[in-house]
Amino acid sequence: MGSTMKGKRMRTLEGSCHCGAVTFSVKSRTPQPYMHCHCSICRKTAGGGGYAINIMGEARTLKVSGRANLSVYRARIEDDGKRIHSPARRHFCKCCGSALFISDPRWPKWVYPHASAIDTPLPKPKETAQIMLDSRAPWVAVAGGKRNRKFTEFPDQSIEDWHKTRGVYEK
Ligand SMILES: [Zn+2]
Repeated sequence: MGSTMKGKRMRTLEGSCHCGAVTFSVKSRTPQPYMHCHCSICRKTAGGGGYAINIMGEARTLKVSGRANLSVYRARIEDDGKRIHSPARRHFCKCCGSALFISDPRWPKWVYPHASAIDTPLPKPKETAQIMLDSRAPWVAVAGGKRNRKFTEFPDQSIEDWHKTRGVYEK
């Protein structure tokens, strides 16, 4: 790929499933894998350690090869007492089961790859946000201290704002 890594330029992330049937790439200005989601859907579908880490890329730049091997899971969730399908689309490889990325028609500009599916080396975040802790598995040791901020549900900042306020947003 031709993108330069000089300064903090937007980078292209390359991702793949374990068996190689699906590969994808997406451009991202927000590649820090800082957000650990403990919700029951993330930890069941993509969270061997009790949580999943989603990052964010620009949906219009998403390129997928092996699309025929991609499958989509939409969780059944409770909404105002009704059972509905979550709008979030969890894309995974139907050959090997690897969780790959999430898309959501409520936020069509973005796609949310699982950090675990990304092959491009990601930056190591200096802190984390532990989110949806109300749903966490009781056996998980949640990282402590000031650098691991904790939220019972959603965090106080968007992924974009988190990167901007820490000077790690990539132009
Ligand atoms: Zn696969």
